[in-house]
Amino acid sequence: MGAIVSMEAHRPRITEADTAMRAERAARLIAANGATAIRTHADLTEANGVTSVAALLHVRELLADLVRIEVFALSGWPSIGAAGAQQRALLREAVAMGIDGIGGCPHLEAHPAAANETFLALAQEAGLPLDLHTDETLDRSRFALEDLAERVLDRAFPHRVTASHCVSLGMQTEAVQARVAEKLAAAAISVVALPSSNLFLQGRDHQVAMPRALTPVRALRRAGVNVAAGADNLQDPFNPVGRGDCMETAGLMVMAGHVLPDEAYAMVSSRVRQLMGLAAAGTAVGEVADLVLVPARTTREAIAFGPPGRVVIRAGRVVDAH
Ligand SMILES: [Zn+2]
Repeated sequence: MGAIVSMEAHRPRITEADTAMRAERAARLIAANGATAIRTHADLTEANGVTSVAALLHVRELLADLVRIEVFALSGWPSIGAAGAQQRALLREAVAMGIDGIGGCPHLEAHPAAANETFLALAQEAGLPLDLHTDETLDRSRFALEDLAERVLDRAFPHRVTASHCVSLGMQTEAVQARVAEKLAAAAISVVALPSSNLFLQGRDHQVAMPRALTPVRALRRAGVNVAAGADNLQDPFNPVGRGDCMETAGLMVMAGHVLPDEAYAMVSSRVRQLMGLAAAGTAVGEVADLVLVPARTTREAIAFGPPGRVVIRAGRVVDAH
C-alpha cells in the first residue's frame, strides 16, 4: 500500500504528455534490449480517468513498427456493486478507445470473487482477453485465484486469461497449490511471475524467515500451467530500480525462483508469446523471425552478462542494433 499511496500522491502532477514521453522512452529501452512485444497495464482510476490509457495508446501507435505494444486497463477499485458504477463506466470508455484487454486487482476489492465476476463479464462483453494483477499479497486469506479458475471454467470464458503476481498461492499448503494449479491448467490460465516488484514490495514485515513472495513456479509447471515472467514496474514506487531488460527478469527467476537458465529465458520469451496469443518465434522454417542476437555463447551466459551489442529483429527486419 505504501507504493500505491506514494504513486497517488504524485499522480495529479503527471500529465498525459508526460506519461506518453516516459512511456515512449521505456518502450524504446525495452525494445532495444530485445523485446519484440510488450504488454503494459495502464492505470485507470476515478481520480485520473483515462489519461494513462490515452497516453499509452498513443505510444502503441507511434512505435508500431518497432515493437508490438498491448495496452490493458488496470482498473482501480471498487469496481463492484453500486460504488463501482463509475469505475465500470471508465472500463467501458477505455474499451471504446481501443484497449487490448481488461485488468484489475481483485485482491484489493472488498469482495475479490465479485471482482473476478465483474472483470470476466466486462471482458466477455468487450470481446477482449483478461489479465488480472491478482493476489499480490503474502496474506494467504486474500486468495482469489482458485475462484477465478472456477469462474473461467464455469462460464467457458472464450478469451485468453492471464493471472499476474499470484503471490498468496505461494503461501498455501502444497496440497492447495497442487489443487489450484490443476484448475488453472484446466482453465488454460497463464500465470506471470513478477519477481522484481514482488521481491521489493512483499515480505518487509517478516524479519524472521522472510518469504520470497514469488508465485510457486514449480507447482504450477508440474500441473502444466503456462508460467511466464515479467517486470511489472520500472523505476517507480513499486520498483525503484530495473533496466528494462528481459535478461534481468530471467536472472531474477534463476536466483529467486530456482528456475534453470533455459527455462528462465523461455519464461520471458516463448511463454510470453503463448499467453499473448502470438505465433512461435524462432529460426526454424515457418516460425516468426522475432529474434534478439546476443553476444554470448549460451543462454546462461546471455542472462548472466546481459551484454550490450545486441541486434533486434522483428518480423525478419533489423529494428535495433547497437
Ligand atoms: Zn502488478
